[in-house]
Amino acid sequence: MRASSWEDLELLYHDHARATGFSVRKSTIRKIDGVIHERYFICSKQGTTKTKIKENERQNAKRKLVPTKRCGCDAHIRIKLDVYSGDIFFKQHVVSYNHTLTRAEWQYLQRSERTTTLKETMKAIEGFEDAHIRSTTAYKYFAKHARGTECVGHTLRDHLNYVNRLRRKEIEGGDVQTVIRQLILCV
Ligand SMILES: [Zn+2]
Repeated sequence: MRASSWEDLELLYHDHARATGFSVRKSTIRKIDGVIHERYFICSKQGTTKTKIKENERQNAKRKLVPTKRCGCDAHIRIKLDVYSGDIFFKQHVVSYNHTLTRAEWQYLQRSERTTTLKETMKAIEGFEDAHIRSTTAYKYFAKHARGTECVGHTLRDHLNYVNRLRRKEIEGGDVQTVIRQLILCV
């Protein structure tokens, strides 16, 4: 696989990660005379989590999002510059994971996916709703995956309000079958 830019292969790896169920972190960049020759993109669970937090940092650390727990996963890609053609190519693609891969419904919560929050959250809620998963159960999934309700980004009340709006919209625009289904679900 060859591409004309680093970004093309980086995006491709992000797509691969999203489909597989892990998140990506930028790693080593090697330059020669200021020109990038090699880059690594690694699974965000590579390495080990530092647990020591200095006393004066503890207060601040609590407010931050809890980082993805690292477990020494080795999944990564190494992409290189072909100095003769100017192409960028995959030199190495390691696909061994030592952790469970996440499901698509909560993929947006992964570290490398946290840029598109609101829209993706709404889409994820709609997905749970389509799958007939109870709202409180769905919210528990969000909380579990975000490692705490304070990290979800929305409250249970927001969640329920949004689900109610979805159901009302579906009833207003729906046929008899939909209305019956919604009445059963609303109990
Ligand atoms: Zn991994």
